[in-house]
Amino acid sequence: MISELTPLIRLQGIDLEIRKIQEKKEKLPERLDALRERVAGKEAAIEEKKEKITELRKRKIEIEDELELETERMKKSQQKMSAVQNNREYQALNKEIEEIKKANKTREDELLELMEEMKKLEEAIAESEKELETDRKEAAAEETHINEIAENLDRKINDLNTEAEAVAAEVKPDLLARYRFLAEKRQGLVIAAVSDGVCSACNMNIPPQMFNELLRDERMMTCPSCQRMIYALKTD
Ligand SMILES: [Zn+2]
Repeated sequence: MISELTPLIRLQGIDLEIRKIQEKKEKLPERLDALRERVAGKEAAIEEKKEKITELRKRKIEIEDELELETERMKKSQQKMSAVQNNREYQALNKEIEEIKKANKTREDELLELMEEMKKLEEAIAESEKELETDRKEAAAEETHINEIAENLDRKINDLNTEAEAVAAEVKPDLLARYRFLAEKRQGLVIAAVSDGVCSACNMNIPPQMFNELLRDERMMTCPSCQRMIYALKTD
């Protein structure tokens, strides 16, 4: 291997490590995001149930008002009964009273159903709120946890960056610029070993003549397929 490649390979090793840590850092919030989604989902479900209760409460007041009015009307009809003159009038009043009673019975049944439904909703809300409390605590703990890990990873990245800078200082500026350019395009893998004429990065064959030249370690060479900087891996 030509001597210029030695610091570059070290630099590549450090840069790849930094990339790995950065990827790890990016994945850190995955669980927290899922927890937060769960919290938001439960909050929305609770809100929906509360709105439903508000609707039911309105309907309850409506029915209660109707009941009051109809009961009043029925009382008046009952009072009229005592002053009835003939059978036909009696029948008509009696029919009216019976109809009001029947309608009021339906109203009372609906009221009971409404109250039962409201009670169920309130119980469900209380249950969900308990779960929500647990989920919120879990999310907060996860946040603290990943913040600690992120700080640790940042420290590692900082150390590695310092190390990378020191190594980079040993590399000629034009070579370093080429390394950085290729690193961007090749996910950090810029320098590749060639063994038995095959580039270890792209798995393509190097022409035999070129491979022979590479074995002589005379000049910087690049893989004709992937343009990475290459060196021969000697197995003797
Ligand atoms: Zn290649």
